[in-house]
Amino acid sequence: AKQAGRDTLRFFDPAMQAQIHARVRLEAGLRQALTNNEFLLYYQPQVDANRNMIGVEALLRWQHPERGLVSPGEFIPLAEENRLIVPIGGWVLETACRQLAAWAENPATADLMVSVNVSPQQFRETDFVARVLATLELTGARPEKLKLEVTESLFVDDRDEARETMRLLREHGVTFSLDDFGTGYSSLSYLRRLPLDQLKIDQSFVHDLLQDEASAAIVASIIALSHSLQLDVIAEGVETEAQLAWLMAHGCRAFQGYLFGWPEPVTSLPFSD
Ligand code: C2E
Ligand code: CA
Ligand code: CA
Ligand code: CA
Repeated sequence: AKQAGRDTLRFFDPAMQAQIHARVRLEAGLRQALTNNEFLLYYQPQVDANRNMIGVEALLRWQHPERGLVSPGEFIPLAEENRLIVPIGGWVLETACRQLAAWAENPATADLMVSVNVSPQQFRETDFVARVLATLELTGARPEKLKLEVTESLFVDDRDEARETMRLLREHGVTFSLDDFGTGYSSLSYLRRLPLDQLKIDQSFVHDLLQDEASAAIVASIIALSHSLQLDVIAEGVETEAQLAWLMAHGCRAFQGYLFGWPEPVTSLPFSD
């Protein structure tokens, strides 16, 4: 079938054509979404060993006028391809920082950290450092409470530049977490020299932890590695008490996952009324 596909004029395949149309429509919608105010942030709790909330991860949602809530898995890859992720990511950062500043006003929420996902395209913009600092200033959010989640792909090439960007922001108090850790291609040696604060164990390993010895070994190694490099570590995608017990037994002390809370609009979080 693969061979036949290559020799056929695929544009006349109606299923394929429908797919292309859907994509073009999605992209047109995405271009309008910022000006039409269709984005919103959900927040998912991050907890410590006593299940106290220590922070949240901001997760982007798109309230599409016809399709309803569109998940980021559907539109972020597209936004990365056409670079719309740069202005969208700017909106995410500003919105999350406004929330941080609002939480700072209330003693019950003043200690919460907010983790924000940053795409490589956004991170590599020449004025990324200036934009983050300007956003912190504009919103009044404390840099120490902002954690930027970056992925290993940043360090495959131009790692010196990436390191410099992180170093500059860290000088201002911003912290960094390495998201989806263990799924990338890069070697471990780069870790030594990166100004990181936290490793985030990818949810795929957590998911398979109790069924698959290899996943368990990888998670145990990541936790041990984080301890020896004096980095924080957080496990994501924790769904069951059994997974939590295993992670605790292996020295992990920070968690995120459906066991503790789903991503929700800010008004649904436990401490808001
Ligand atoms: P991620 O950064 O790895 O985020 C974690 C994803 O796992 C989220 O999916 C979250 O809802 C989901 N999740 C949380 N707990 C559990 C659990 O216990 N089990 C399972 N199976 N899943 C869980 P979501 O919100 O659909 O986001 C998907 C991805 O989209 C994110 O993966 C991230 O890569 C990207 N993304 C989301 N928001 C942003 C953003 O503001 N900027 C950028 N650049 N990317 C974003
Ligand atoms: Ca993340
Ligand atoms: Ca992740
Ligand atoms: Ca992921």
